[in-house]
Amino acid sequence: MDRISLFAPASIANISCGFDVLGLCLDNVGDLMHLQKSDTPGFRITEIKGQNLPLQTEKNVAGVAALAFLNAYNKPVGFELQIDKRIKAGSGIGSSAASAAGVVVGINKLLGEPFTPLELIAFAMEGERLACGSAHADNVAPVIMGGFTLVRSTNPLDVIALNSPLELAATVIHPEIEVKTADARAVLHNKIPLKKAINQWANVGALVSGLYREDYDLISRSLVDEIVEPARAMLIPGFDQLKENAKNAGALGCGISGSGPSVFALSRGMTKANQVAESMAEVYNKIGVPYEVHVCPINPNGVQFLDSNNA
Ligand code: ADP
Repeated sequence: MDRISLFAPASIANISCGFDVLGLCLDNVGDLMHLQKSDTPGFRITEIKGQNLPLQTEKNVAGVAALAFLNAYNKPVGFELQIDKRIKAGSGIGSSAASAAGVVVGINKLLGEPFTPLELIAFAMEGERLACGSAHADNVAPVIMGGFTLVRSTNPLDVIALNSPLELAATVIHPEIEVKTADARAVLHNKIPLKKAINQWANVGALVSGLYREDYDLISRSLVDEIVEPARAMLIPGFDQLKENAKNAGALGCGISGSGPSVFALSRGMTKANQVAESMAEVYNKIGVPYEVHVCPINPNGVQFLDSNNA
């Protein structure tokens, strides 16, 4: 096999209480990537459609992740990449993670899968380091492993694939303003009152338990963020109203997707998730903020290889 096309999905990191540790993979929302082997060793990005992003290997998260892979592989192989970007950079649904994770999964496939998913996550994290200054794994892990993931530790890297209840569906609304991950990190407080920390880790444990028990009420009770959301909510237009509308429309929970500005809600079933989307859209229609909205199931598989018919 000399060439491959793949779908690199978007993802939601944090998921309310799980700042920097929880993530989930979205279905149907994502980028397309086309990779081919080349006789010239090294890695080159030959085309990016849909967004104005650097082609230069060292300045693109896909390039940096690919170089981390090729350094570890340590044999003279060459690859060329075209990216069809459909996730806007800085939207908070893992645009950089889709590129970083997609490219390493694709190269691994073309080389006969020499690396494990955990090793691929470590390479993709180098792309995340370029995007925001810290090599976080909460977006790249679900893109590589699918479903919900928990990053127990980044050093040493320890990632757990969690259960994804089949009926869970996500609604994501993206107000068309850019919030850089680095800026969203700057508003966070360095100290956490013990009481809030206790509530937060109780909710993380309960959410994980709810996912395994497929207990939608417990999932709903646990989708609470007492630490990060209060600091970041002011970066997102109409956040409180979005959340109120989503809850009133029947969402299990609602919070900031990654570092924002996208806001996500989780619901039981696609019908509910669509009603939640309408209720959230109403907020932006009223205050005149341009937006995009996505409604989709949770993607249990992560990066998906495409045959030539749907590439
Ligand atoms: P998101 O959460 O949507 O990934 P980030 O702020 O984490 O947003 O990352 C986007 C940043 O990464 C932007 O500054 C963008 O220019 C940079 N970047 C470099 N290469 C890529 C790429 N292939 N895809 C997306 N963003 C990229």
